[in-house]
Amino acid sequence: MSEHFAEFYQRSIDDRDGFWAEQAELIDWQQKPSQICDYSHPPFARWFVGGVTNLCHNAVDRHLATRSDQNALIAVSTETNTEKTYTYKELHTEVSRMAAVLQALGVEKGDRVQIYMPMIAEACFAMLACVRLGAIHTVVFGGFASGALASRIDDAQPKVIISADAGSRGGRVVAYKPLLDEALKQSTHQPAAVLMVNRGLAEMPMSAGRDHDWAALRAQHLDAQVECVWVESTHPSYILYTSGTTGKPKGVQRDTGGYTVALAASMPHIFDAQAGQTFFCTSDIGWVVGHSYIIYAPLIAGMATVMYEGLPIRPDAGIWWSLVEKYKVTHMFSAPTAIRVLKKHEAEHLTRYDISSLKALWLAGEPLDEPTAAWISAAIKKPIVDNYWQTETGWPIMTLCNGVEPQSTRFGSPGKAVYGYNVKLIDDATGQELTEPNQKGVLAMEGPLPPGCMQTVWRDDQRFINTYWKSIPGRLVYSTFDWGIRDADGYYFILGRTDDVINVAGHRLGTREIEEVISSHAQVAEVAVVGVADSLKGQVALAFAVVRDANVVADEASCKNLEADVMKLVDSALGAVARPQRVLFVTALPKTRSGKLLRRALQAVAEGRDPGDLSTMEDPAALAQVQSRL
Ligand code: AMP
Repeated sequence: MSEHFAEFYQRSIDDRDGFWAEQAELIDWQQKPSQICDYSHPPFARWFVGGVTNLCHNAVDRHLATRSDQNALIAVSTETNTEKTYTYKELHTEVSRMAAVLQALGVEKGDRVQIYMPMIAEACFAMLACVRLGAIHTVVFGGFASGALASRIDDAQPKVIISADAGSRGGRVVAYKPLLDEALKQSTHQPAAVLMVNRGLAEMPMSAGRDHDWAALRAQHLDAQVECVWVESTHPSYILYTSGTTGKPKGVQRDTGGYTVALAASMPHIFDAQAGQTFFCTSDIGWVVGHSYIIYAPLIAGMATVMYEGLPIRPDAGIWWSLVEKYKVTHMFSAPTAIRVLKKHEAEHLTRYDISSLKALWLAGEPLDEPTAAWISAAIKKPIVDNYWQTETGWPIMTLCNGVEPQSTRFGSPGKAVYGYNVKLIDDATGQELTEPNQKGVLAMEGPLPPGCMQTVWRDDQRFINTYWKSIPGRLVYSTFDWGIRDADGYYFILGRTDDVINVAGHRLGTREIEEVISSHAQVAEVAVVGVADSLKGQVALAFAVVRDANVVADEASCKNLEADVMKLVDSALGAVARPQRVLFVTALPKTRSGKLLRRALQAVAEGRDPGDLSTMEDPAALAQVQSRL
């Protein structure tokens, strides 16, 4: 029976427990929950208390009876020109082997396993094998380098790290093992074992006693039968690190039962998706979108999922769409930045293929601008659906739930609040809720956050409270750190971050993290990194560094050398993904009289905008100097 979205949404708020009890029926429980939501210790929400389940069982095992010979995983790499399809039965076999190997390496329920891997099938096996055992995975994006890896190793303290010899991007091989070895030199914590997948792309020096070869261990466990370890609903399934306003990344901790239910419910309600169809999400397993919509949600729904390693334009801009034709993809999920890359090529590349199987294209991760939306919509003639969410929430906060009731798209808006999310717009100065249409405020959520959202910051409950729930004066509400407005019909518009987080090509980066690396350079006295609008990547990072030796600033060749040196430092510490587009050297940075860095003024002049009121500025010449360097 179909229901109007407005009623569906209201029921999720007014009859929270009744609503989610119904959704909980979508998954298998070894033991049903005795309580739907325990919010007796706000802001900590415990979902499906008393319930016992397993994420891997729900994603893999429970489909064996009905669809064991249907496709589960389609792993395509245009970097190595390989394509391999796994049925549910085959996926189950590979996951069991990986789980047996992890067990042999000592992994037990609650242990952390770090996964630092490219987009290969073994990464999917690794994630599923961890949750099968009740171990907590923590995937680190393959584009990150040693420093970023080391801080995550020390925070998560993994018993085992799973990696591969190399990733590849646009034909350029990036060896992972040297980066991992360097990270392990920097980190205090040391894992008991490192499991390496050898793709034959790069040298893979092995450390005797610690490092193990996946192929060799897999061969010892070909017939492994590893039962799922049933865990409490509130048992953590994974930790995923994300950037914030400090240099130290936050470990977003997710539960098991709530996440499984949230993803299971999102497939019919948001994506109008069914078992037997094919989902193609072009993100990376290093990001939340990859966790939720490459790996878990499509498998929970009994769909086939496409895992793609490579660029969207190599060998040409038709590659993704050829996969849509070949695998009869019904649902595609990407990011605006990828579409802007495609947009530089002829639209005919996209329509050369039969894409009639495709129902719609969902885009997320950054604002969807009109030219991009209009271009892709005209090119593929399919509905384009924006959706807004965060690493913290694990699934969309705003979109159009067309599976509940088809609704019209409104340009520039990711849609309405999704069921379960009690979204508010708050005046940041007074803490008052803004209820009139078109008022600008901080996008916030009243607790409890719905199932699937972060439980806490890994091993730091206080940071969870202080960071997310204390930023609005006098109110215990969750802040998204995004500005937004809502129109009279309930459509939201996102107006950018309230903090120093920037979004480069859909990748969320903390400017403080980049600043910390740059300021560790011997010749840099002080640095400010800001996000600047870019027509392709949405934003790029620009760094303004005060040099210790003022003579450098006047000498173009010295500046160029130092710039290259600083970029190399960022590459090796955080990875090329965090590399600023330019590093500009100055003798002073614009500050207020109280010594606060004027980031907004820096950003404004870098974007060619008016920097606004400068009456509080200590030294207006500093801003003029910045301007002259651009
Ligand atoms: P992440 O945690 O990496 O997914 O980044 C989340 C942030 O990306 C949000 O807080 C927003 O600032 C931005 N974002 C994600 N999706 C959208 C969207 N559809 N429209 C506008 N901004 C978005």
